[in-house]
Amino acid sequence: MSARLALHGGEPVRTRALPHVLDPSGRTLGAEELRGLERVLSSGVLNGVLGAETPLLEREMADLHGVEEAVACSSGTAALHLAVAAAAPDPGDEVITTPISDFGSVAPILAQNAVPVFADVDPLTGNLDPRSVAAAVTERTRAVLVVHLFGGGAPARELRELADARGLTLIEDCAQAWLCRTPDGDLAGTIGHVGCFSLQQYKHITAGDGGLAITRDRALAATMRAFADKGRDREGQRRLHGAYGLNYRMTELQAAVARAQLAKLPDVVAARRRSADLLLSRLSDLPGVRTPAPDGHAWWLMPLVLADIGDNRAWAQALSAEGVPAAAGYLERPLYLEPALAERPVYGRSRYPLDSEAEGRAVAYAPGSCPAAEELIERTLVTLQWNEGYTEEDVDDIATAIRKIHDGLRGGGA
Ligand SMILES: *Cc1c(COP(=O)(O)O)cnc(C)c1O
Repeated sequence: MSARLALHGGEPVRTRALPHVLDPSGRTLGAEELRGLERVLSSGVLNGVLGAETPLLEREMADLHGVEEAVACSSGTAALHLAVAAAAPDPGDEVITTPISDFGSVAPILAQNAVPVFADVDPLTGNLDPRSVAAAVTERTRAVLVVHLFGGGAPARELRELADARGLTLIEDCAQAWLCRTPDGDLAGTIGHVGCFSLQQYKHITAGDGGLAITRDRALAATMRAFADKGRDREGQRRLHGAYGLNYRMTELQAAVARAQLAKLPDVVAARRRSADLLLSRLSDLPGVRTPAPDGHAWWLMPLVLADIGDNRAWAQALSAEGVPAAAGYLERPLYLEPALAERPVYGRSRYPLDSEAEGRAVAYAPGSCPAAEELIERTLVTLQWNEGYTEEDVDDIATAIRKIHDGLRGGGA
């Protein structure tokens, strides 16, 4: 009855590779980026603090989001580090975040000697559940770092209200969520005190690496700008280091490429929305495969959540065999079970800030602490690559493969 799965020796649905972010067919890099690079090289100035492109990128990014300021830096992780540093936790203070994200969401918390505290997520979207965040707030909480996972908007307004009521800084990690709209219709990155974006190779737009932090608050912007520039205050004539900072500066080469990419961003997101809508319409009658609410989704990836129709690892394997690359769970394990957090020293042989005898603290990250996140990673979540280069035919192949697996793995075939 059902076609033999490629996994079991059948004909794969798809043999041609789909457009992908590591291939020119899945990128929007072209003549505009090349012209930008030529401008920079012929100017002789490649450093972002001294050049023309980086300030222009910052202006264009701020304008695109309708906010006062944008600070360019070397990566999404760097942008998050600027935001955490600007939130100014004391050593040992806590920052609440999600267990499902890139490690770049937690590394900056540790780097500022703050303790990452993990709240649980919505079982469908994988985004932070505000009730779980509220329950995790303590006297030591200084900030909440929310991720708009896979390009789907997290409830930023609700979290901002919580943050304001408790005097916390809200940081939005928009690395996967360029031009995403939250459930309240807000542009991701504009509701928190700071919104952080990434230009790394796998994101919607890229300069290889790069980051941007946006804010409405000029004082926060000044703090972040200095932190990215070795704490340098460039207002006065004299060389002055007003505070501790690192070198997280973006180069002019990155900024020139990023400007060309930013101009293409609205089309990139619109194309991803069109093809995602098409897939959702092809799957709308398929029981047991749950897809995100499409409104405002930026579709970095296409997450499928399986409801009692087999195991995510079997699905990912079977889909990949059909020629539709898929991953189970997005992560191998929740971030709090990564050895870097669960087991290893942080600095030298010390586990500070996680452990501190002097402060009477010994953080133990353990399995079971965020059950909804663990369920997604271990059992229910399958992620598909998504790309602005997908044609209707590509989407049809993806839908056909999903329906084939749905039939083929039914009845405990996993
Ligand atoms: C990619 C990513 C980061 C880190 O960005 P880099 O530019 O790779 O440092 C942080 N958070 C999320 C959610 C990401 O997807």
